[in-house]
Amino acid sequence: MPVSYRSIFPLLLSAGLQARDRILFYGAVLCTAFIAGLLALQGSPGLISGLSFCLAVLLSAYALGMSSGGRALPPDQEVFVPSLLALFLMILSLSGHHETTLEYQAGVMATSMLLLSLSRPFGATVLLSVAVPFGLGMLALIYESASPASMALAFIIYLALCAYLFLSKVDYVPEDAESRSQRMKQMQLECDRLQAELIRREQSFERDIEEQTKYLRDANNELSQQIALRKTISDALVKSQTRLTQAIDASHLGLIDWDIVAGQFYQSAFHEQFGDKEQSSAQVIETLKAVVHPDDYPEVRDTINACLRGELESYSLRYRVHNADDWLWIEECCKAVDVGADGRADRILGTRRNIQNEMKRDEQVRLAKSVFDHTSEGVFVLDNDGAYLSVNPAYARIMGCDADRLVGKLIHSLSQTPQRQEIYQRIYQSLREQGSWHGELLEKRLSGDYFPQWTQINAITDSHGEIKYFAGMVADISDRKKQDEKLTYLLNYDDLTKLANRVQFQDQLHRALMRYKDEQRPFALVLLDIDRFKQFNDSFGHDASDKLLRDIAARLTGSVQKVDILARVGGNEFACIVECSPTFEVEKFAQRLFKAVTTAHYEIDGHEVMLSCSVGVVLVPEDTQDIETLMRYGALAVQKAKYHGGNQIQRFHESLKSFSRRRLEMEHELRKALSNDELEVYYQPKLDIKQGRITSYEALIRWVHPSLGVISPEEFVNIAEENGLITDLGAFVLERACSQTQSWMQDGYGKLHVSVNLSARQLKEPGFTALVANTVENTALPAECLELELTESVIMEDTSSAFELLKTLREQGIKISIDDFGTGYSSLSYLKELPVDTLKIDRAFVDGMEASPEQQAIVKAIVVLGNSLRLQVVAEGVEKPQQLNMLAEYGCDLIQGYHVSKPLTAAEMQALLAQQSSQGPLAAP
Ligand code: C2E
Ligand code: CA
Ligand code: CA
Repeated sequence: MPVSYRSIFPLLLSAGLQARDRILFYGAVLCTAFIAGLLALQGSPGLISGLSFCLAVLLSAYALGMSSGGRALPPDQEVFVPSLLALFLMILSLSGHHETTLEYQAGVMATSMLLLSLSRPFGATVLLSVAVPFGLGMLALIYESASPASMALAFIIYLALCAYLFLSKVDYVPEDAESRSQRMKQMQLECDRLQAELIRREQSFERDIEEQTKYLRDANNELSQQIALRKTISDALVKSQTRLTQAIDASHLGLIDWDIVAGQFYQSAFHEQFGDKEQSSAQVIETLKAVVHPDDYPEVRDTINACLRGELESYSLRYRVHNADDWLWIEECCKAVDVGADGRADRILGTRRNIQNEMKRDEQVRLAKSVFDHTSEGVFVLDNDGAYLSVNPAYARIMGCDADRLVGKLIHSLSQTPQRQEIYQRIYQSLREQGSWHGELLEKRLSGDYFPQWTQINAITDSHGEIKYFAGMVADISDRKKQDEKLTYLLNYDDLTKLANRVQFQDQLHRALMRYKDEQRPFALVLLDIDRFKQFNDSFGHDASDKLLRDIAARLTGSVQKVDILARVGGNEFACIVECSPTFEVEKFAQRLFKAVTTAHYEIDGHEVMLSCSVGVVLVPEDTQDIETLMRYGALAVQKAKYHGGNQIQRFHESLKSFSRRRLEMEHELRKALSNDELEVYYQPKLDIKQGRITSYEALIRWVHPSLGVISPEEFVNIAEENGLITDLGAFVLERACSQTQSWMQDGYGKLHVSVNLSARQLKEPGFTALVANTVENTALPAECLELELTESVIMEDTSSAFELLKTLREQGIKISIDDFGTGYSSLSYLKELPVDTLKIDRAFVDGMEASPEQQAIVKAIVVLGNSLRLQVVAEGVEKPQQLNMLAEYGCDLIQGYHVSKPLTAAEMQALLAQQSSQGPLAAP
């Protein structure tokens, strides 16, 4: 609102001004008056101009001070700038032109007035700031002017101005106190109203802002929440995707995703087997056809087709696919996840998995189950308290009860083995400490009878080594035990006389020698041979002879002490080992035996017969300390006795060594025989029972004496061994047998095997293995075609070095055979450790076996034993078809004997081989 002109005077009276403005204003007025006074006194027009300028500056400073002094002018007063300009112009006009023309002064005055009047509507301040100096300046001009015209003009204009001002502001009425207070009140009210309005607006504005802020905050919160939510979701998604990928990775699964509509197939693994990661539908079908095992393919094709047609919602297939040179088992499980309107699958999702190990395991489990169910051994599984978890049918059968009745029961409470408390305590202790137990238990079947049972139990632990189960295996060994006992008996006793047989006797002799070596206990060997027994045999027959032998045995038994060892060592030969105490008279002992046999008569078929016998006596240590020599000296003594007509006792002495002249002569001639080419190798064929063919033979030496004809090796091999000729003789046989066999094989008689006999002396010869190796190499015979035969006693005599030697030979591929098996004195348990390939049952067991159940039992036991040790079993001395049949039934591999053929000359043998290859296999005799 513009300031009313009525406020000019009060303003002039400084009523409306602030203290500072008032000082400035009055200062300016006073300055102007002072300067004007000064000018008046001095009459200097130049000074008036300077004064006007000073005044103008002061007023400008005032006006500026008003604008910049913190009290902003109201907008309607801002036009003071043009007023200032007017003032400045006026002063400018006055300063330099005090001698101006009247017209010029009038022009300036008029412009000033115009500006002044223009500024009128804009307020008192401007008016003040212009009018006062202008008026003063005017007055100064008039005062100074010399021209009465210009003074008159100025005066008129000034008056006109005053009149104008006055006339235009006559409405000014001085305000009385009441109206002023009223106005003030109104103003106050207006002010209050405005303030209230302002506050209201401010409040409303603040509210708006608050609302807006709140809205923004809420929006912001919501946004943050949404972002957080989105982040959580995306994190969860990433996490679950990672988890899924890892899970798939860990599970070794391959994913398959088949979009049938788009014809796109994706597989994440098994690219080696199924090809590319991404394929077309056509490619998938091609691939399956190419890689799936032909046996599995039809099922795979039909199942997948059924799923595609919508007949199957899901499927699970197990099939094999090509994997390098092998097949890999895969399990494929799929589901149609999208189905079209026509019911056909649009998309199939699934997995593939390598189940090779699983299949292998399943197979093993199936196998194990089959073994478990069908094995003849009883198998059981116990929990770790010893309660049955499961048993196989064989176990139930052995125990004589139902499997169901056993499950859940404690093994040690069912066991009937004597002292089962202590035994089972020991078993459990062993299982906990060593993890296994095996041994023989005497068990009772539920039916009540006892039987020996071989039991093997193992503890089964978990990955922490804690025992979880016990698995056991039992075998009813009652039959085997009976057989073993029988075999042991038969192997050690003479069934006819119930005396120890040769086997046991040799063993006892061996022990007696050991005893002598350890404890210096001397002993005597007494051999007793019934004279002319063959004649008795021929005249009275076998049965009578057998009875006679039993009677003799009984008489001899009656005349020896319990500690003495009495045995029947041959058909009509008996032997006794007796300890020689210092007071013992060996002659008297021999006499006693001699008399027991010879004094009283025997009854044979109602006949009374008297017998005579030849007795040989050898002393240890006086005569020898070697087992073979001991027997030989004994035999020599007996021979000497017989030489002198029998019926006498012959004590061995040194002179007996040269007893046999023939032996001496032979020894001499034998040396010549080698260089004279009188030695020849015969071949005795062996028949392979299963093939019905002759594929092997034994090389047997013969001495074709110029005057005595063919001499049996039994007559000269001993001599050759004694004088060392056996080395050359053995090398000759070996070389001849090998080269002959190689030549026959070359002639096309098929693969042949030759066995060559070895004597103890040969084995001890240094360089023996080299000799064998060289012979095989020189004759070009495949090593496996050569077999070396040696007796148990040869092996046992020098156990450790013989073992080494045999091993070396076997490493060269050469086969080893135990000759005359059953007559030696080695224990059966030793057999499995011997490095041998073949067992040759001694002729003595085969001879007459068809009529002797005992012999049959022995032969059968040896065959079973040989088979169980995976040895080839050969029976020697087979002369009768019944023997062959029995041997075949027992599982014997080869037979050798007169039933097949006698030993043949090389030419005869070749003819036989030729006949065999031209006629095919020989008819089994
Ligand atoms: P051996 O190794 O036990 O040989 C088997 C002997 O039994 C042979 O006697 C053979 O003719 C005979 N024989 C074969 N089949 C039957 C049959 O059905 N009934 C009967 N009663 N006898 C049959 P041979 O040829 O007189 O040989 C006797 C022993 O001489 C051989 O026993 C062997 O120990 C030894 N021998 C033979 N040749 C050699 C050799 O080259 N070197 C060595 N060191 N010893 C040899
Ligand atoms: Ca032999
Ligand atoms: Ca033999």
